[in-house]
Amino acid sequence: ALVKRFAVIGHPVAHSLSPRIHAAFGRQLGIALDYAAMDAPPELFDAIVAEFAAEGGLGANVTLPHKNRAVSVCTTLSERARRAGAVNTLVRTATGWEGDNTDGVGLVRDLTERQGLDLRSRRTLLIGAGGAARGVAPALLDAGIGDLYIVNRTPERADALADALAMPGRVHPRYLRDIDTLGTFDLIVNATSAARADGLPSLPMALANPRTAAVDLSYGEVAIPFLAWARAAGVHDGIDGLGMLVEQAAESFLRWHGVRPETDEVYETLREHRAELVTA
Ligand code: NDP
Repeated sequence: ALVKRFAVIGHPVAHSLSPRIHAAFGRQLGIALDYAAMDAPPELFDAIVAEFAAEGGLGANVTLPHKNRAVSVCTTLSERARRAGAVNTLVRTATGWEGDNTDGVGLVRDLTERQGLDLRSRRTLLIGAGGAARGVAPALLDAGIGDLYIVNRTPERADALADALAMPGRVHPRYLRDIDTLGTFDLIVNATSAARADGLPSLPMALANPRTAAVDLSYGEVAIPFLAWARAAGVHDGIDGLGMLVEQAAESFLRWHGVRPETDEVYETLREHRAELVTA
């Protein structure tokens, strides 16, 4: 039988952990699969996806910077991808690609089941309004958080995300430069890629308190500045994006193979090596 082909498509993508995670899931469940990392510069994304389909590719994860672009190569979208306006999972169907988004459920599953947090009624600050923020915002709202403040360097993108969420009483877009005026939060999510570019924006200590949970969606070296800020602000447990990464992968695996893998073993293995990991 032909080995089933899958891929993660990003730019850059060489450091992606997804091939390792999906290979481990396949071994665990006795499913033969070939999961490759495919580099796609933005101008070649559509062509590379089309070629992958023509070669029999059955599914792909889509990562930075293509999550928004990926919406337009899909013939159908899942409800959660439509609400996010971003796709991280392509599922082959008879008529083309279905776009799904497993980032949000991945984050919520990590926070509630692995980290043991009760998210209900938490006053939440989401920093960033890019592809990752779009994926996680609807899932956090569904999980029962309280008011959601979205701050972004480019305010129009925070406004657009708040508009898409269509919950004006509960979702509040704000300028990043007004972050000093927002008070304190029970949950703070860093969904920016700032630490890998110009550096984390300056965040006031008063955003956090000892009961605050602080999460960076990235991991390894890129997560260090935000987690160091959180510690300095008195947060007990800073959480990186490794759990989300593993959980979103498990949810994508379920879409493709119809079975959900156990995630603890691969999570623990990655955590042992987290200092060496490069966020992709
Ligand atoms: P995007 O490029 O779509 O968005 C980047 C975001 O970061 C935007 O909100 C952007 O603001 C902001 N930003 C970038 N540089 C700065 C800066 N110097 N100052 C302030 N804000 C800045 O990226 P993604 O949303 O896809 O990814 C964001 C992060 O989340 C990445 O580190 C990624 O690796 C991680 N991630 C982790 C996942 C996991 O499974 N653990 C899954 C998905 C993402 P602006 O709009 O103004 O440009």
